[in-house]
Amino acid sequence: MGDLSKNFSRSEFACHCGCGFDSPEPLLVESLQTIRDHFGPVRIRSGCRCLKYNRTLTDSKGRRLSKDTSQHVFGKAADIWVERYLPDESRDYDRTDLRDSIERAMRSTCETVLPIEVARYAASILVKPKWVTKNKISFWDYDDLLKYGGIGVYKTFVHLDVREARPARWGLKWRGIDHVK
Ligand SMILES: [Zn+2]
Repeated sequence: MGDLSKNFSRSEFACHCGCGFDSPEPLLVESLQTIRDHFGPVRIRSGCRCLKYNRTLTDSKGRRLSKDTSQHVFGKAADIWVERYLPDESRDYDRTDLRDSIERAMRSTCETVLPIEVARYAASILVKPKWVTKNKISFWDYDDLLKYGGIGVYKTFVHLDVREARPARWGLKWRGIDHVK
């Protein structure tokens, strides 16, 4: 049981610097819960980040990895990976080869779902915004925008956010997938 939703707790979103910033946007938690209901356990690699902590994130050459305007700073983003638990093979182990069976079972208990799979599903649950034209001016419908957010696919995780600006999709292999305009 979580204290934010059925499976998520505030502590999972807490800023890694220990400052106590642990208030994710409810819509973000709601979206993550839907992903959790679909795939199984969702791990949060990074949720809320205070500006100070966000500025410490650099690559090996000292270049900033995250802008001051990052959705993480506003509690609107989470970098996640998903674990999928497989059937426990140890139940039908062969007693003559117990050690091998147990090792195999331990190896096969949990695997990480491919980030692109998670991203595709995330895209399917976020509402596509309406591009409206009024008085010859076109714009994204704000209410829908909020639900469309940003999704970035990385090698080992997926970035998901509920930004209030123009929706964004980036990262690997988005070809053929529900795209922004
Ligand atoms: Zn912090």
